[in-house]
Amino acid sequence: MTRTVEFNKQKLIMARFGEIALKGLNRHKFEERLLHNLALKLKQYGSYQVTLSQSRIWIIPNVTPTVTENEIDLLLQKAIEVATETFGIVSVSPVYLFAGDYSNILQISRQLVEEHLERGDKTFKVDCRRAEKSFPLTSMEIMNQLGGDLLEAYPELKVDIHQPDFIIKVEIRQNLAVYSQVIQGVRGLPTGMSAKGLVLLSGGIDSPVAAYMMASRGMELEAIYFHTFPYTSDLAKQKVIDLAQIVSRYCGRVVLHVVDFTDINLELNAKTPKDMITITMRRMMMRIAQALAEKRDCKAIITGESLGQVASQTTEAINATDAVATLPIFRPLIGSDKEDTIKIARKIGTFETSIKPYDDCCTIFVAKHPKTRPNTAAWQSCDSELDCAALTQQALSKITSYDIRYDRIKEFQRDYNE
Ligand code: ATP
Ligand code: MG
Repeated sequence: MTRTVEFNKQKLIMARFGEIALKGLNRHKFEERLLHNLALKLKQYGSYQVTLSQSRIWIIPNVTPTVTENEIDLLLQKAIEVATETFGIVSVSPVYLFAGDYSNILQISRQLVEEHLERGDKTFKVDCRRAEKSFPLTSMEIMNQLGGDLLEAYPELKVDIHQPDFIIKVEIRQNLAVYSQVIQGVRGLPTGMSAKGLVLLSGGIDSPVAAYMMASRGMELEAIYFHTFPYTSDLAKQKVIDLAQIVSRYCGRVVLHVVDFTDINLELNAKTPKDMITITMRRMMMRIAQALAEKRDCKAIITGESLGQVASQTTEAINATDAVATLPIFRPLIGSDKEDTIKIARKIGTFETSIKPYDDCCTIFVAKHPKTRPNTAAWQSCDSELDCAALTQQALSKITSYDIRYDRIKEFQRDYNE
């Protein structure tokens, strides 16, 4: 049994961040942005203090006398969830922080061991780091003493220094910290470090993953979805809203613009040879995306394309879509295998939504055998049948936008021609 001598200990969350390569001013910006992003996300769950010291982030629930132990545990649990889903965080540990001596370290360690034994863990090791040299025991002495005391108290426990089920970690600084859990975070760069990107978001598997990947490099996200109602149902649109909301869990916010694409699509279908519809439609989408990106101060366009996956994703077809854009087009999946993309989709939680069976407009309008290697003359001839500038303007005037955060969605209308 654990001794029940009470002493002043605080349970909090310690988050590690990194990119090791970041230096100087960049590092400072990285830290500030990360703290800001975390504080903003945590606000919805309760009152927390988020601070930086000793190159770690500390998340501490603000505790009033009426808050119960259970409520604190819930707040800590939420903080773990939020921090592990925030770009820039490498890993997270729930930590006990206290001032005291070896007996306090032992007491907390016993509590942690009991929790692990309950979960079925059986092997452990002790790891100690001592930065505060005035502590009377060396790190080696602490490891030996603590390992021995725990083995004596829990005969079912065994030491395994190579692959232990858990590690009791002791850090000795001005305060003492003891913990045993290290939970991986999503890494990357804090949202807001890398300008804003406009992602072409369909209801498929690839584009939400592409959005996530660029967000993980610090991009803020806006998204554009081309909706061809009633040929694609409003359920398909809802699916895109849901996907944007899942991605917003990581980056905090996604502004999604839904373009009413029906008239444009019908006109394009009426005037374009069947085998050129895919490419002409994609060029039209890209033109509209480029125009909206400029209005919304987006510095890049993002798509979920992967080389050779479908007819519109050959090198020639990609050239044809690139030709209408002046902004850089980021295609993080261009060299990815579908299986690898699916793995990421499962990990980030978009897969189950992406595979819901609502058609997107491409599956309804396109030809069975689209041209896979369109040449410049072919696409120029298709374009000349359309008033592309007027169609782009028309699209910009028919947009419904959604400001999407993990906890709420606000709809707004704007004429982006103005
Ligand atoms: P995804 O799984 O992302 O839908 P896909 O493999 O189905 O991709 P396509 O349908 O050819 O491939 O689409 C290629 C890319 O074009 C998508 O990743 C997305 O970025 C964009 N896109 C396609 N359809 C739409 C749409 N209706 N609205 C917005 N973007 C779209
Ligand atoms: Mg698709």
